[in-house]
Formats: sequence, structure tokens, C-alpha cells
Amino acid sequence: MHLRSASCILGVMALSLRSARTASPEAEISPVSSLVQNKRVAEALAAIDQLGVWTTEQQIRLTEIPAPTFQESARGEAIRKLFASARLRTRTDSAGNVIGERPGVSRRDAILISAHLDTVFPQGTCTKVQRDGRRLTAPGISDNGTGLAALACLARALHIAKLRTHLTLLFAANPCEEGEGNLRGMRKLTETFRGRLRAVIAVDGAATDHITTMALASRRVEIALCGSGGHSWADFGMPNPAHALARGITKFLSIRVPDSPRTTFNVGVIQAGTAVNTICGRAVAKVDMRSESAAELDRLEAALRKSIESGVGEEMAAAAQAGHTTDPRIEIAYRTLGERPGGELPADAPLLEAIRQADRYLNNQSRLERSSTDANIPLSLGIPAIAVGGGGRSGGAHSPCEWYDPTCRELGVKRILLTVLALSGVEP
Ligand SMILES: [Zn+2]
Repeated sequence: MHLRSASCILGVMALSLRSARTASPEAEISPVSSLVQNKRVAEALAAIDQLGVWTTEQQIRLTEIPAPTFQESARGEAIRKLFASARLRTRTDSAGNVIGERPGVSRRDAILISAHLDTVFPQGTCTKVQRDGRRLTAPGISDNGTGLAALACLARALHIAKLRTHLTLLFAANPCEEGEGNLRGMRKLTETFRGRLRAVIAVDGAATDHITTMALASRRVEIALCGSGGHSWADFGMPNPAHALARGITKFLSIRVPDSPRTTFNVGVIQAGTAVNTICGRAVAKVDMRSESAAELDRLEAALRKSIESGVGEEMAAAAQAGHTTDPRIEIAYRTLGERPGGELPADAPLLEAIRQADRYLNNQSRLERSSTDANIPLSLGIPAIAVGGGGRSGGAHSPCEWYDPTCRELGVKRILLTVLALSGVEP
């Protein structure tokens, strides 16, 4: 009897799961228009408004704790305390992800809301926030002070409203989004929670005008040219790795990339030499390449390698002409610093419908965007994911004069809250 009714229930569950999969995206979410009628949801929205000044104070405090990529632990500990004060169950994993878990009715299925901890600024950069009216200026104030502040505000607002969600909410402040971090934090999060994640929302920077649903594939390589080195006068004409690198890069810069699929490159770092009167022993360049097409990315990297080899060839030929033997040679070493896979959120994903409903309710205009963010990893694994801003306005990202203005920040945080609740559903 028991067994039969159990199998009956299982049969019904399997049926409803199947029909859920084939249902329209609207059918798979809690409509935002009815969610906002819920008293606790209304309280959470009101709390976001009331937390405005507090949220900006947290953003300033977090931004002033330096967090270059690979050195995020002090900032991570500060946000862990914020998570704990909102009664999230916190832990820090082996990759340095600070995770705050807010159990839902379902302990298994979860929505991950993340913000990266790291900045592009090296240790020693002054991170003191300058205030000028509502405008805040400091390296990293928006990217990603805004994302971290949004997570802190969201967790606190949910706690104040005592909101019970159906799905478990996982808040994560993750390391290694910038520079050579190669999305290590997000890779670890998707590995840990794979199978449980119904959606991932990465909060990165300011604004409310975009939804990043397309992950831009990118590749970052280091090229190192090594020679024997020598004296600028006595050994003149000897193969010089710095000269060879300059020749190679010049060739690479003249190659044409298509507008569509949009393809870009940047020689971001060039390092060589120890003294002006020395033929250096080693010259290094770091190159970032991005494309909407994986094939174009392959073509671009092949062109880079060919250009560098050709530059080295010219340098060797010039040395031979100047009477130097072709020994010592310049050796070329390539190293992949990072590879971000591409991916795309399907147009009929419930996650997209959820944020569109949130935008309609909040009267917010937004467009779909392609970008390279933490969302690349879940998207490449087929997990529904988007990256959005945390509200407010900003400029000068990745520069020392980066600024942020928190006017209308509440809109950004409410937008994320309603998207999460529409996907998760709440207790009546
Ligand atoms: Zn960022």
C-alpha cells in the first residue's frame, strides 16, 4: 500500500518534472507581479531602500582593503563577516571562495549569486576612497566594490524581511576573475555545486542597462624570447630578444581582424632588460585575444605565433648580416595564461524570463550583451547564467581614477532580488 502510493507519487513527480521541462519559461518561474504582493517580499524591497547609506559604507570599506588577484583573503574575510551578520552559513573553500549559504525549503537545488573579490591593481596601489559629493573615486570602487556591496545588501535585506525561499541561495565572493586568475574561483564553485545549480548570477560592476547572456571566449598567452645577453657596444649586432620581440609584435599588429564575428587583441604587458647598456637575455610579452568565434580565436593565435617566429627570424638574419654567427639563437617559449570558454544562455531560459519580468516591474530598460565574465564558466557547462551590474553609475574601470556614484543603486539590487525570487519561489 505504502509502496504503491510512493511509486504513484514518484510517477506524478516524474510527470510534473517532464512537463516542467517542456513548459514555457513563464510557467517555470513565480511571476514577479504576484511575488511583489507577498508581504515579506515587499519588506525586502523596502529594506534595500533603507540600507542605501549602509551599503555604500560597506562598499567603501571593502574597496579600501587591497585585493589584487591571488591576494584576496583579507577582503574575503571582511565580506565573510558581513555574510555571517546576515545569518548566512559561511565557509571559505580551498580556492579562496567565501561562501554564504542561505538554506531554502529545498536544501539541494540552489541559485548561486556571486561577485568577484579581486582587482586589477597591484599590491601597493593606494585604495583610499575619495569622496566628492555622491561621487566616490578609488581603484576598484566599482569593479567590483559594487558587486560585493550588492551581495551584502541583498543578504541583509533577505534577513531583515525573514524571507524563506524555496531554493537554497548560495552567496559567493570569489577570487581570480581579473588578470591571470583564469576564473579559478568560479571554476571551483561550479565544480563544488555542480548538479545543484539551477542558475548563476554574477554581479560585476555598476549599471542596470545590460544582461550578459553571451560569454565571450578569450585566450591569454605569454611569449618569452631568450638569448644569451651581452654588452651594448662590445657585442653590438648580437641577436637581441627585445629587438626580436619588437619586430614580432609589429608584424602581429598589422594583421586584420574581422568586425563580425568581433575579434580583438591587446598586447598588455611588455617586459625586457635590466640596464640600458645591456643586450637583454629575456623579453616577454603578454597578449589578450578575444572573439565571438572560437575559430577566429584559433586563427588569431596562429597569426601571433607566426608573427613572433618571423620577428625572431628577421633578428637572426640581421645578426648574421652584421657578422655574428647565428649562435647563440633566440629561443621562443609560449605559455597559456588563461583560457575562457564561450557559451550562451538560451533565449527561452527561465532565468532570462525572470530578469525580464523584474525589469518590466521596475520599469528598467536593458539589452542583452556579450562579455567575458565569471558567467563564462557556468555557461560553458550548460548551467543557466548571466552577469549583471549592481546598480548605480560608474566610469574609468581598471584605471586609477575609477569612480562610482550610488544614485539609483537600489534599482540594481532590487532587480537581482526579484530575479532570484522569481526563479526560486518564496514561502507564502
Ligand atoms: Zn569585474
